[in-house]
Amino acid sequence: PMHEQGWGRVVLKLSGEAFAGGDQLGIAPEVVEYIAAAVADAVSEGIEVAVVVGGGNMFRGQALYAGGMERGRADYMGMLGTVINCLALQDFLERLGIETRVQTSIHMSQVAEAYIPRRAVRHLQKGRVVIFGAGLGAPFFSTDTTAAQRALEIGAKAVLKGTQVDGVYDSDPRRNPHAVKFDRLDYNDVLTRGLKVMDATAVSLCMDNGLPIVVFDLMTRGNIVRATRGEKIGTIVCP
Ligand code: UDP
Repeated sequence: PMHEQGWGRVVLKLSGEAFAGGDQLGIAPEVVEYIAAAVADAVSEGIEVAVVVGGGNMFRGQALYAGGMERGRADYMGMLGTVINCLALQDFLERLGIETRVQTSIHMSQVAEAYIPRRAVRHLQKGRVVIFGAGLGAPFFSTDTTAAQRALEIGAKAVLKGTQVDGVYDSDPRRNPHAVKFDRLDYNDVLTRGLKVMDATAVSLCMDNGLPIVVFDLMTRGNIVRATRGEKIGTIVCP
């Protein structure tokens, strides 16, 4: 399903953990700087890049409600955490001269625009990077599902999921030296085998709409650009 000249318009999904670097919590500036530089390279090649940022380095709803908090409130805390990451990425991108807009699903007009899909598309067409924050604005969802939904709504051709491993394996490659990596998977394989690509809600949304997911190693230099170009990298989940 790849274009010769790349996907054209993509949604890049970055987990909150990535922002923390080696630490569990907070933001490692050198990591955000590295990601921003890679996104800037993709933009300079004419690729339209929207980014969905997670928040696992701030608060994860599950950890909070396991501790007794009300689920909805814990999830809203999780969503607010993603916005902090968005502002960090925005800052590093703008230092590189890339125009950006942060759009959030929870209104906070001092720091971000509201999520307006048609406006997001206009920004992308003008070469701006649009950073989506606060997930879907609703509890019980994830930022992976947000990435899939936003990609569908703004007409992105793929969701690029940058992770800590270089693709999807049949078992955890950090524990099993014989783990086998898949080059290509079908959505059903992912769901029935419980493979760790994205959560089931996100995978089914992609499946129902034939939206490709590319899972690749975020921290290998050059990978973000290669993924946006549609080069063969990591694992692709597609129809
Ligand atoms: N969250 C939510 N609805 C959304 C997106 C996120 O409730 O649409 C909450 C949820 O509690 C989640 C947290 O925000 O744990 C952070 O997002 P996520 O876990 O997806 O971040 P990542 O794993 O990518 O760092």
